[in-house]
Amino acid sequence: SLFRQGGAAVERMEYILHQPDSLPDPETPKPLTAPQRSIRFENLSFAYDEESVLHDVNVEIPVGQVVALIGPSGAGKSTFASLIPRFYDPRGGRITIDGTDLREVTKKNLRSTIAVVPQMPSLFAGTIAENIRLGRLDATDEQVIDAARRAHADKFIREQPEGYQTQVGERGDQLSGGQRQRIAIARAFLRDAPILILDEATSALDPESEAMVQQALAELVKGRTTFIIAHRFSTITVADRILVFENGRISADGSHEQLRGNNAIYQSMLGGQVIG
Ligand code: ATP
Repeated sequence: SLFRQGGAAVERMEYILHQPDSLPDPETPKPLTAPQRSIRFENLSFAYDEESVLHDVNVEIPVGQVVALIGPSGAGKSTFASLIPRFYDPRGGRITIDGTDLREVTKKNLRSTIAVVPQMPSLFAGTIAENIRLGRLDATDEQVIDAARRAHADKFIREQPEGYQTQVGERGDQLSGGQRQRIAIARAFLRDAPILILDEATSALDPESEAMVQQALAELVKGRTTFIIAHRFSTITVADRILVFENGRISADGSHEQLRGNNAIYQSMLGGQVIG
């Protein structure tokens, strides 16, 4: 799963978006705006330690494309996705947005263009409204509610004892996994970033949440360059393009039509197996 290393692993993507880390910012950064053309991964290789995890990955994602990353556990999907907000730097090759290497812009600037919906969204101790507002700290109440509606979360939030003002614990215990996911989706709507990274939960959600999450995701990805780490077929139905990862390489790259006939991993997901 994405960013599982370390105690705060799960929070990492959402919370670290504002925080400094050990990777240096350039001395004279270039400005980065919303991507206009494409995100390119050029001769990309990566290793956490000695063992290579991604080898010579070459792929170009046009702006607005919705891409599903599928493949067995350990194939490198999460690692690939974690390089986009520059949680790590490549060992070899580079990632560019409209031709600009990610290392030429500040992390703050880069991450302002990205929203992340993690597998197991964590909530902080505070109200539901405050938890949604994490997506954009200066959002008005109306904007928070609008984001919740679009995330199909408004109804269950209003059913809580104090609605949007209901306090939730750090682990969001009183909310189901699917409800927490919809809070994370509401955050992403509010954030309104041009690049989206979604890390699908491996375990199944309750059926009602599952349907709501699917609908909300289908809306959320529209018009955004999206990377979905997917484990279930239902999730990749929103994708325009599927990248199959195996052993640190992209072993297949194509549309549903292209993969349906001849890709074993795609076919097992189609057949209902949970992969990765
Ligand atoms: P999953 O579907 O299980 O999340 P994945 O396809 O996303 O799998 P990654 O999580 O990217 O695969 O893992 C690729 C390889 O890198 C695996 O061998 C994994 O054990 C290793 N790995 C992942 N994160 C780390 C880390 N923080 N430190 C060291 N090795 C890691």
